[in-house]
Amino acid sequence: MSMTRRSLTMIPVNEPLIGAREQEYVDDCLRTGWISSAGKYIERFETGWAQYCGRKHGVAVCNGTMALELALSVLDLPAGSEVILPSFTIASCLEAILRNELIPILVDSDPRTYCMDVEHMESRISSRTVAVMPVHIYGHPVDMNALTRLAVRHGLKIIEDAAEAHGSEIFWRGGDGGIKDEGGSWKRCGSFGVVSCFSFYANKNITCGEGGMVLTDDENLARWLKARRNLCFGKKERFQHEDRGWNFRMTNVQAAIGCGQLEGIAGFLERKRTMARLYDEGLRGLPLQLPHIEPWAKSSVWMYAVVLDDRVSYDAAEFARRLSAEGIQTRPFFLGMHEQPVYQQMGFFKNERYPVAERIARRGLYLPSGQAITDEQIRQVLAVMRSVLVG
Ligand SMILES: *Cc1c(COP(=O)(O)O)cnc(C)c1O
Repeated sequence: MSMTRRSLTMIPVNEPLIGAREQEYVDDCLRTGWISSAGKYIERFETGWAQYCGRKHGVAVCNGTMALELALSVLDLPAGSEVILPSFTIASCLEAILRNELIPILVDSDPRTYCMDVEHMESRISSRTVAVMPVHIYGHPVDMNALTRLAVRHGLKIIEDAAEAHGSEIFWRGGDGGIKDEGGSWKRCGSFGVVSCFSFYANKNITCGEGGMVLTDDENLARWLKARRNLCFGKKERFQHEDRGWNFRMTNVQAAIGCGQLEGIAGFLERKRTMARLYDEGLRGLPLQLPHIEPWAKSSVWMYAVVLDDRVSYDAAEFARRLSAEGIQTRPFFLGMHEQPVYQQMGFFKNERYPVAERIARRGLYLPSGQAITDEQIRQVLAVMRSVLVG
């Protein structure tokens, strides 16, 4: 097969794997008419996901972006107070902060894991800081031992964004932030925040098509999350509202897909790790920084992300064009929040520089990494990568 012929069938950057269980549960919704936001699958998905992550309560919502906005809203943080987050993340995080009338304070990324640099975070804490939003990037967890220690010392609430870290784990030495020298146990991402948020968008490790969830151990917060997700309808008189709210509801059909996906998560994670091993082995020796996994972390390898070495004369956008011409679809890395014109125009982040975020935004992309990718497709990606990078 010639290179040009291959480009007719692009290898997609992400393709979900939808199985017979999902089909069966969705059919059940359609057959019985439970297609809206009431029905057995919603609670089943909430309970199942909370349990999987080691939390008491799960509140399913329409997507991950709204999960973050809702999660911040129930913490009742004073308007104008500061929330720390990485510059290198998705706009959803920043939007959640702005829409709750809070002030975003950015930190740079760790050059090896691309997650927020917890040491840099310490220098950004002020008397106005009330919370921190760690984001586990591309499946690699943030150093939650160090972050929690800081959060406890400074009285900061943790809003965890685990949208990219379904099933990722951290070797946790903490407990109330008091880090023990020895001992500890593995703990899943999404179990650290006072509220923790997930997305079940089609490219996430498990998906509902569109969907999200907030997890918490706090019963009162769970009650408010449920109320505000559904316009805070009154308990006695439905149309006399308890408070202001939104419609962030998930449908039973989405939850049915999620329930099916959840049953397969162990296999999904194993597949991602096999994919990562094949890529690791096949890309060794090329002028690329491959994913690094800290000894205290188990990554879900949501996306297999690479960063071009300085030895490569062009940037990731050009690299993506060359791969695309050979039938390989990729995605660029995030552009840091401080570099977004839309937020600069609002007066944020003037003259702020985050060198790691700036560098990886220009040098990084991720390879086809979906659940449905085959070993043959991985071999094709590897062959093209080699020919593009070394000719
Ligand atoms: C995907 C994602 C979100 C947003 O989720 P949606 O369901 O697409 O709204 C939030 N945070 C991170 C880190 C994500 O990767």
